[in-house]
Amino acid sequence: MLKLFKYLRPYALSIAVTLALVFANSIAELSLPKMMSRIVDEGVATGNVALIWSIGGRMLLIALAGVAASVTAGLLAARSSMGFGRDLRAKVFSRVSSFSLRELDTFGAASLITRTTNDITQIQQLVFMMQRMMAAAPMMAIGGIAMALSTEPKLSWILLVVIPVMALAIVLLALKGIPLFKAIQTKIDALNRVMRESLSGIRVVRAFDRVDHEKRRFDGVNADLTATTLEVNKLMAFLFPFVMLMMNVTTVMIVWFGGLGVGSGDIRIGSLMAFIQYAMQIMFSVIMVSVIFIMVPRASASATRINEVLDVSPEIVDPASPRRPASAKGEIEFRNVAFGYGGSSEPALKDLSFVARPGTTTAIIGGTGSGKSTVINLIERFYDVDSGAVLLDGVDVREMAQDDLRASLGLATQRPVLFSGTIADNLRFGGADASEEALAKAAEVAQASSFIAEKEGGMGAPISQGGVNVSGGQKQRLAIARALAKRPRVYLFDDSFSALDFKTDAKLRSALRKETSDATVIIVAQRVGTIRDADQIIVLDEGSMVGRGTHRELMRSCDVYREIVASQLSAEEAV
Ligand code: ADP
Ligand code: MG
Repeated sequence: MLKLFKYLRPYALSIAVTLALVFANSIAELSLPKMMSRIVDEGVATGNVALIWSIGGRMLLIALAGVAASVTAGLLAARSSMGFGRDLRAKVFSRVSSFSLRELDTFGAASLITRTTNDITQIQQLVFMMQRMMAAAPMMAIGGIAMALSTEPKLSWILLVVIPVMALAIVLLALKGIPLFKAIQTKIDALNRVMRESLSGIRVVRAFDRVDHEKRRFDGVNADLTATTLEVNKLMAFLFPFVMLMMNVTTVMIVWFGGLGVGSGDIRIGSLMAFIQYAMQIMFSVIMVSVIFIMVPRASASATRINEVLDVSPEIVDPASPRRPASAKGEIEFRNVAFGYGGSSEPALKDLSFVARPGTTTAIIGGTGSGKSTVINLIERFYDVDSGAVLLDGVDVREMAQDDLRASLGLATQRPVLFSGTIADNLRFGGADASEEALAKAAEVAQASSFIAEKEGGMGAPISQGGVNVSGGQKQRLAIARALAKRPRVYLFDDSFSALDFKTDAKLRSALRKETSDATVIIVAQRVGTIRDADQIIVLDEGSMVGRGTHRELMRSCDVYREIVASQLSAEEAV
């Protein structure tokens, strides 16, 4: 946790002022009972009204100053701790944004969200409480004891009995509470994960009539979290009545033994009253310490989880001195590339070599799981190759700045993702300054103009979150238009035509060919019809290239390709 406190540095001054104010307030609170005892013992006892007024006036001023200090300290502490939380969230978010997909997979989205929200809130609260209490508690405890001793030494043995008993109880509670607090954070993770899964899979859940099953699953993690939280609260429920009991017992003891002293004339009434107040202040400071005791373990569990995120050094980073290709043509080359996702035993790509030249179309075909999308992922450098190299215009993508690399690429992913906003906003995703005409042209080529025109507002029509108000095929066409509007040198279409009917597919491809005549085009497809005219077709089978050439050449030379063609032809004939 200490590691995270370095993010407090910008707030050092504010924290110092807060602590000073808290300190001042403690002194004010400590001085009041003593003054009150003087009013009682010297003023009231002797009927000295002038003394009562003068001490009373001073007490009022001190009390007001204490309140002002306390309020200001509260405001400052809130500002600095909230600022600290904001900085930390920004830090975690920017770190997560630089994660490679592999690193995102390790944490999981649910856990990353909990870490950025709930976990940071824990630490932020601790920072706030520490400023309010850390300085006040020891000051009040030590100062209180000193003041109590100086007011009435004859009663101080009572404190010697009571304080150790309280301290022991708090230590025992903390020991029992710490593991529970750690468990709570991971249980919140589990809850978030189940919630996310059943929300994002809501269609499947309903279609397969698994709503009850999901409810039970949620009830399971929910009950688990509740049980642990209850356990913690049982401990807390015990703590506060116990402290109250101790306070009352202490008061009774002081009044009892003090009363005897007053009777015998050893102790004065005012001192007795002051002593009771000091005892309360001391015990109150013990409670403050115990609150911190309770918060620290929970926050430190959270801090560990945040540090786990911050400590990842992203595997995909820009090199110190990035290289730029001498000429920006858009040639993509795979040189003996091998790659595995790590978790699975089989490598996803084995010894893959090919060149995709500008002005030509390279198609990649193969069964599901044959590694087609993996090729695209490696070109985009979502992952780094295990051996071999991927080159853009002769430069290894690992030696380029990621911005430069991705500025050259226009990707339409297998599962298109749209963002909330208008259609135009979505199309401008790749280039904010694209003109109206450029957008219209991109939509035209992507065969999206007709359905955009039908929508109310045209280009200004809203897309809802996740793009649920457009169909799968419309989504694909918008994703293609988005890639086109970017006007990159390399187009990557990962199975982007799968949801289109044959006619639209054909129209789109012929428009595309004109539009992308100078660019490098890489098309991943399942349908032979989509890629038949490509300049070169790469046939993948379980991560290996089993054929490369034109449709005609492959029909002669490649068994796997012939099989694919045969299966699809028979399917089409059967219709
Ligand atoms: P496709 O040809 O259908 O696009 P992919 O390139 O997506 O195939 O996947 C190739 C292989 O890699 C498959 O066996 C798949 O299970 C595996 N794979 C894909 N993505 C991941 C991932 N994020 N983590 C682990 N394995 C993956
Ligand atoms: Mg795929």
